Amino acid sequence: MSTEGRLKGKVALVTGGGSGIGLETSRLFAAEGAHVAIVDVDAGAAQAAQAQIADSGGQSVSIVADVSRDADCARMVSDTEEHFGALHVMFNNAGISHIDDGDAESTEEAIWDLTMQVNLKGVFLGCKYGIPALRRAGGGSIINTASFVALLGAATPQLAYTASKGGVLAMTRELAVIHAREEIRINALCPGPLRTELLMKYLDTEPKRQRRLVHIPMGRFGEATEIARAALYLASDESSFVTGTSFTVDGGITAAYVTPED
Ligand code: NAD
Repeated sequence: MSTEGRLKGKVALVTGGGSGIGLETSRLFAAEGAHVAIVDVDAGAAQAAQAQIADSGGQSVSIVADVSRDADCARMVSDTEEHFGALHVMFNNAGISHIDDGDAESTEEAIWDLTMQVNLKGVFLGCKYGIPALRRAGGGSIINTASFVALLGAATPQLAYTASKGGVLAMTRELAVIHAREEIRINALCPGPLRTELLMKYLDTEPKRQRRLVHIPMGRFGEATEIARAALYLASDESSFVTGTSFTVDGGITAAYVTPED
């Protein structure tokens, strides 16, 4: 691995770093020269990610934290600063998609609350503790993972999930405006449907997968690595004039009215 790279000299914290988008982004950031704090509620997954990065010659640390808990978020940021000396890139990416999340009538209050706590409050807490750390570092980039479902409605509903991601977009825009003069850029990333654990366990039969694929102009699910490359752009100084955006990486799904299969 080269010590040069698009994130050379930067320290990045990635939540949900043990799987899917977070894992691939942690690996890519480390390969591009960042020191990476891999944060996950699943200790084994975070440690396995750290081991993979070490095998490739990268620098990382694993931190166990639940992003829905205030004290955990304060600690993940302070541990990262203590370990690597600063924090420049914060990727608030951890999220859940609950199997019992449905429409307004079928979704239980407990599922709504849990989804909001992880997907929306988790991003808020990441920003609450990440922003002062970025300010201490002289500036940086925050990336909040939303979703294409924040931009489109679907007849196969996941109401709490969709509402939580809409909240991430609105919060990201406002924070971007508040902190724009402090060299702190804040963007949302809207992935389309991906072939990761999170979506595949929800679309658990071939007919369900095919039904979703009809809507994607490219005719395939995205890969976590394709989102990681977008996160790399938003994290690096290459995106120095980009803030407050909803950066969409979705195989064309939000552009489509009719697809080639219709
Ligand atoms: P994933 O399930 O593969 O990985 C999510 C990781 O987050 C897991 O390692 C999990 O342990 C961790 N996590 C869950 N709850 C946590 C908590 N409270 N605190 C800390 N860590 C926690 O999922 P993924 O597909 O990589 O999704 C990552 C993000 O991308 C999520 O915010 C998701 O909503 C979003 N997203 C995914 C898709 C998709 O199709 N997979 C599409 C759009 C957006």
